[in-house]
Amino acid sequence: MTSEFRIPEKLEQLYEGKAKKVFRSSDPALLIVEYKDDATAFNGVKKAQILGKGAINNAITSRIFPLLEGEGVPTHFVVQLSEREQLVKAVHIIPVEIIVRNLAAGSFAKRLGLEEGTPLGIPVLEHCYKSDALGDPLVSRDAPVALGWCSEDDLETIRLLALRVNSVLLHFFLERGVKLVDFKLEFGKLANGQVILADEISPDTCRFWDAVTGEKLDKDRFRRDLGGVEEAYEDMLERVNR
Ligand code: UDP
Repeated sequence: MTSEFRIPEKLEQLYEGKAKKVFRSSDPALLIVEYKDDATAFNGVKKAQILGKGAINNAITSRIFPLLEGEGVPTHFVVQLSEREQLVKAVHIIPVEIIVRNLAAGSFAKRLGLEEGTPLGIPVLEHCYKSDALGDPLVSRDAPVALGWCSEDDLETIRLLALRVNSVLLHFFLERGVKLVDFKLEFGKLANGQVILADEISPDTCRFWDAVTGEKLDKDRFRRDLGGVEEAYEDMLERVNR
């Protein structure tokens, strides 16, 4: 017998982050995430609102996560509930942010004295400690296991999933005239121990460059005061929906 899935009730707020709020739901295995228009950069030093950003990032993530599921990447996404809300599986967030890079940009380009856009022979994975207080510092490949943030097996799974996300999304965005320069992923663990993709994939967490003009279509427009921030986010939503 199949039982019909009912959307759980939204209960109290559990947590407010820089770009999202998280609410408990009447189903203990599920949470409700609400996307905000708030934007921060440089670890919260620069703050502003980007009009419509919450709805756009929710829509983009709600398109991309099911696409990844279809390509064998398990995710926390259940369903988009409204313009700003989505229902997700409750996970224990592993405090490791994985950055995947296809072209040198941002902190990587700066650290190594490279021109932004320098091609990388293979995708480069970086590991950061998810800590606002410390500004998400870069750590070595071994630190997450050494410090007990996750097991060696979990880290291997995370790295393989990150590379799979990269190959799926490189192709997906190139078909839409966008170079996927780099992006950040977060992973969580279900109660049964399975590691799944969590958080979001949006212009807040990726660098997107127009494949023809090189124009930046992501949060760098905000970070670097380039103007046209809302327009870039809307352009990316339109391309993702093509
Ligand atoms: N990123 C992110 N959250 C962070 C740090 C980085 O989403 O806390 C994303 C960022 O948008 C970019 C990629 O990860 O797409 C690499 O960022 P980088 O390390 O170059 O840092 P940045 O130059 O943005 O400080």
